[in-house]
Amino acid sequence: MGGEPAKSPLKSRGIRLTRQRQLLLALIDESGKHLDAENLYQMAHQRDPKLNRVTVYRTLKMLKEGGLVDELDLMHIGGDQHFYETRMKQEHAHVICLRCGKVEEFFGEPLQKLRKQVESHFGFQIVLARTEVGGYCSHCQVLRANEVKEAAAVQAQTESGEEPRPRSHHRGA
Ligand SMILES: [Zn+2]
Ligand SMILES: [Zn+2]
Repeated sequence: MGGEPAKSPLKSRGIRLTRQRQLLLALIDESGKHLDAENLYQMAHQRDPKLNRVTVYRTLKMLKEGGLVDELDLMHIGGDQHFYETRMKQEHAHVICLRCGKVEEFFGEPLQKLRKQVESHFGFQIVLARTEVGGYCSHCQVLRANEVKEAAAVQAQTESGEEPRPRSHHRGA
């Protein structure tokens, strides 16, 4: 084992790539998406029916600890779920729609600039940076505007006529 030449950057990180690890890494790499552990388990299981859930979860943990994949919570869009992506990608920010859950990736110079500024401001050596931006995508903005309008209309209707007398808990205000 020890005499093996270091063929890839993976080897140089000191991680032995077992078949399971290679499979999971390939799945994460190929998909280019942000998959959660359950997604990954389903995909891995399809390719290798002998793989069980425990192995997949344990393997993910090892890949994460070895710095090969990054674990993200993506603004907790999936509750407690975590998402995985390869660390081989260029650094990027995640732009997450809090309504539909769509995740966009922003690559670009501002991130490199921010990194340099933080380093020089604090004399800090950055190893890992994670940028997440939450908000509403253009599609969801339209839907939300309609919802707000509808809600306002309902409220206006309720206030005019339906309830002529003030509600008791508003008295004395
Ligand atoms: Zn959206
Ligand atoms: Zn990403």
